[in-house]
Amino acid sequence: MLMTYRRHSSRILIAGSLFALTASSHVLGGQTLDPQIVKAIGTVNPKSLRADDEKLIAFGTRNTFSEEQGQGRGVFAARDWIESRFREIASQSHGRMEVMVDTFVQPADGKRVARDVPISNVIAILKGSEETSRTYVISSHYDSRNSSNSDSEKTAPGADDNASGVIVVLAAARALVDLPNRATIIFVAYGAEEQGLLGSGHHARSLKESGIDVQGDFNNDIVGSSTGPKGEKNPNRLRIFSEALPVYADMARINEAGAETDSPSRQLARYAREMGDLYARPMAGQMIYRTDRYLRGGDHMSFYKQGYPAIRFVEAVENFNHQHQDVRVEDGVQYGDLIDYMDFDYVAKVARYNIASLASAALAPGVPKNAVIQTKELTNETDLAWDAVDGAVSYEVVVRATDESRWTRTIPTGAATNAHVDLSKDNYLFGIRAVDAAGHKGVVAFPRPER
Ligand SMILES: [Zn+2]
Repeated sequence: MLMTYRRHSSRILIAGSLFALTASSHVLGGQTLDPQIVKAIGTVNPKSLRADDEKLIAFGTRNTFSEEQGQGRGVFAARDWIESRFREIASQSHGRMEVMVDTFVQPADGKRVARDVPISNVIAILKGSEETSRTYVISSHYDSRNSSNSDSEKTAPGADDNASGVIVVLAAARALVDLPNRATIIFVAYGAEEQGLLGSGHHARSLKESGIDVQGDFNNDIVGSSTGPKGEKNPNRLRIFSEALPVYADMARINEAGAETDSPSRQLARYAREMGDLYARPMAGQMIYRTDRYLRGGDHMSFYKQGYPAIRFVEAVENFNHQHQDVRVEDGVQYGDLIDYMDFDYVAKVARYNIASLASAALAPGVPKNAVIQTKELTNETDLAWDAVDGAVSYEVVVRATDESRWTRTIPTGAATNAHVDLSKDNYLFGIRAVDAAGHKGVVAFPRPER
C-alpha cells in the first residue's frame, strides 16, 4: 500500500539549509501581486468613507429598539439607506449581485430583548463562477447603542461601533463588484449585534441549514480609530482575532497532532495577514490568538457556533470612553462614540486590508478537503494526501517548526494530490494549499493524522 502511494506522489528533496533560509518576513515566497486586486484596492477613498460614516450617524440612533422612529431616524431608516447603497453597487454588477433584506422577529427573552422586536440583516451576494457553494462573508453590524443597550431615544452615533465596519463592507462591495471571483462573496450588515449577536446568529444558522460551504467570515467591528486612550498612535496596526479550537474539536487528536494553534480560523487569520500585509502596506496585521477581547464578543462568533472559520478585525488600541457610552462631558472628559475620534485614512487602510484578503481567497481555489498526514508507520519522513480542489492546477506544502506561529516555507508539489517530504512528521507542522493557473493561492488546510 505504502509503495503504491509513494509511486504516485511527488517526491521532494530538501536541502539541509532549508530553515537557515527562512526570512523574517511572514509573506511566503512566490507571491506576486494580481493587478485586479491592486486596482480594487485603489478604489478606496477616505473621503467617501467619511461621507458614509456621517450618513449613518445622521440617523441619530441605530439602537435595535428604535425601529419605529421613521423619517430619517432610527435603525430601520439606517437599514433602508444601507440597502439603497448596496442596490446602487449592484446596478453595476451586470446581474451578478443580488441584494436582500432578511427580517425576522426576535421574541422577548426577559433579558436583553425586553419586547418582541423585528431585526433586519442587509445582504448583498456576489455570485462566484465556481460550481460549488464555496462562500466568503465580509460582515459588520449596523446597530448602535449608548450607555443602555435598550435606550432607543437618546443619541447613539456609533461612529466607530460600528459604522466603521459597515463603511468598510460598503467599500469592499464597491471595489469588488467587477471581480471575476470563483467563490461567492456575501457582503452583510447585521442588526442586533448589541443584544447578543442576534442578526449574525440568524444568518450563520440559515447558511448552515442551507448546507452552504462557508470557508471564511471576515468580520469588521470597531475599525475606525487609530488613537488609544493615552494618545498613543497606531496608524498602521490592525488586530486579527481568531478562535483556538472549533466547536467540533477532538482534544485527543489535537494533542496528538500538536494542532492547538492550527484551527481553520487560525489558517484564515494567517491567510488574511499574509495577503493583507502583501497588498495593503503600510498596514500590518497583528495576529491575536484569542476568540475576542475579554468581556467582548462579535458577529464572527456566530460563525464559530456553526463550525465555520471566521476572524475579527479590530483597531489596535480601543478607547472605552468612546464605546457604549451616552454622549456627555463628565469631569472634563468627553464620552461617546463620536466622529471626532475617527481616522478615515486608517479606515481606508482597513478596507484595503479586507479587500486584499477577501479578493485573494475568492479568486483562489478553496481549501483542500480531507487533508491527511500518514501516521501508519514509524518514519522520519512525511506523507500527505488531500482531495483535488476545483480550479487548482498545482499545490504547495507549507511548513513550520512546531514552536513557530507562522508558516515559514512553501514547497511546490505539482498537480498530484499527495506529497512526500523529507522532513520528519514528528518535528514540523505541515499544511497544504491549492494554486490556480494564474498563481492565486488558497487558504491552508491542516492535515489530520491518518492511521
Ligand atoms: Zn460592535
